Amino acid sequence: MMGKAGVNNRQVNEEGFHVHHLSEHEFNLDSISPNAIKVVHQLKSQGHEAYLVGGCVRDLLLDREPKDFDVATSALPEEVRQVFRNSRLIGRRFRLAHVRFGREIIEVATFRGSGDGNNKGQATAQEIHEDGRILRDNVYGSMGEDAIRRDFTINALYLDPEDETVLDRVNGMVDHQNRTLRLIGDPEERYREDPVRLLRAIRFASKLDFEIAAETLQPISTLGSLLSSVPQARLYEEILKLFLSGHALQTFEDLCRHNLLKQLFPQTDQILNQEGNESLRQLITLALHSTDSRLAENKPVTPYFLFAALLWGGIEKAVHNRLDSENEYIVMQQAMGEVLREQAQTVALPKRSSIPMREVWTLQPRFRQRRGNRPHRLLEHPRFRAAYDFLLLRAETGAENSELAEWWTKFQAAGGAQRKKMTQPKQQRRSQRPKTTPKKPAPVASKPGDA
Ligand code: ATP
Ligand code: MG
Repeated sequence: MMGKAGVNNRQVNEEGFHVHHLSEHEFNLDSISPNAIKVVHQLKSQGHEAYLVGGCVRDLLLDREPKDFDVATSALPEEVRQVFRNSRLIGRRFRLAHVRFGREIIEVATFRGSGDGNNKGQATAQEIHEDGRILRDNVYGSMGEDAIRRDFTINALYLDPEDETVLDRVNGMVDHQNRTLRLIGDPEERYREDPVRLLRAIRFASKLDFEIAAETLQPISTLGSLLSSVPQARLYEEILKLFLSGHALQTFEDLCRHNLLKQLFPQTDQILNQEGNESLRQLITLALHSTDSRLAENKPVTPYFLFAALLWGGIEKAVHNRLDSENEYIVMQQAMGEVLREQAQTVALPKRSSIPMREVWTLQPRFRQRRGNRPHRLLEHPRFRAAYDFLLLRAETGAENSELAEWWTKFQAAGGAQRKKMTQPKQQRRSQRPKTTPKKPAPVASKPGDA
């Protein structure tokens, strides 16, 4: 990692970037993907400027394994395309080149400008909505401009793996060493340009364990409503990042604290703010905590399980408040429809999440049917495991009988004979108890599954 000397020992280049020499510090250049180094090298050998930039530099400086490598260059997308036969151009909002090496993709972006009209006849390449949001941003510019239109100072560091230098125009190295997350420029303006930055601030602060700078933090709780203008698909992707980055619990608490949960999950926010809903908070906490633990152990996690917990409050309430004459299954189906419709007002869940989530919910009452064939059939259900895990969490919060959860744990572990015994209709079991003679001969269950 960089020592303090890294900040003091610096030169300034002609574009105003401070140049930090990495060779003097413990910076592990070996953790850089050889393909990323190759891309930088090729671009430079064709006369372009090229650097590693963004999250990978940030993570390398923190001695963390970067999850991917991004390159910023002076070459235009078409020029990048020409340098690499193994590349293709993608994106509309941002035009980028993807250079592919087997399973690894190196993302190469051309330096972006500020869109103030000084950009080589590209006046229409940037589109700004009247609310200040940038809709399209393909204005190219200098490296200096590229740096200041990035989001946080620690995300605007440029690493030259050949010179072993980091170039910094926004004091990112100082913030890095002080573990401070700071937006570049005027925070409110930057949040208005792209409200997703509100969520990125929360995400990076908890993921990196950085403190949000006071002026970057201050506008967050009042600007949350800007998120309603972000396309739902982009918000959904950001939600996945928020909850699947290994710090879901911390992130969730920060979202609540900064008034942002209600922009993403308004129903959940509302229920959590009512008195006497501690069990929902506990359920969500347990689900997020288990997601974090699984990720820490490199186990797979599924977003729908988290959504099942996050949105369970509305379903539970409907089932709890139903009249005796109402069928639980029907009440639940109606509640699921309502909860999902309501959720779609802010961030709709795609079918790949909502379908399995509904299955997890629908299976909950079925766990109570423990006689006959039904438990055996339930065990075969593709969503059994997730639904059982959900049942365990509900039992832990006290919302479901813990004896029921234990029964299912035992049932799964049991062999064929014991399973059969565990699911025998009550009457039959009574008939087999020694010394209790049934008044009538034990009836055989008329239908499989009758309890
Ligand atoms: P992660 O580890 O989540 O990938 P990252 O910093 O690499 O973190 P990306 O979303 O991959 O995040 O973006 C790469 C870089 O692009 C960022 O580091 C930042 O410099 C810039 N960037 C990304 N999103 C924005 C944004 N909304 N506004 C300004 N700059 C952004
Ligand atoms: Mg990244």
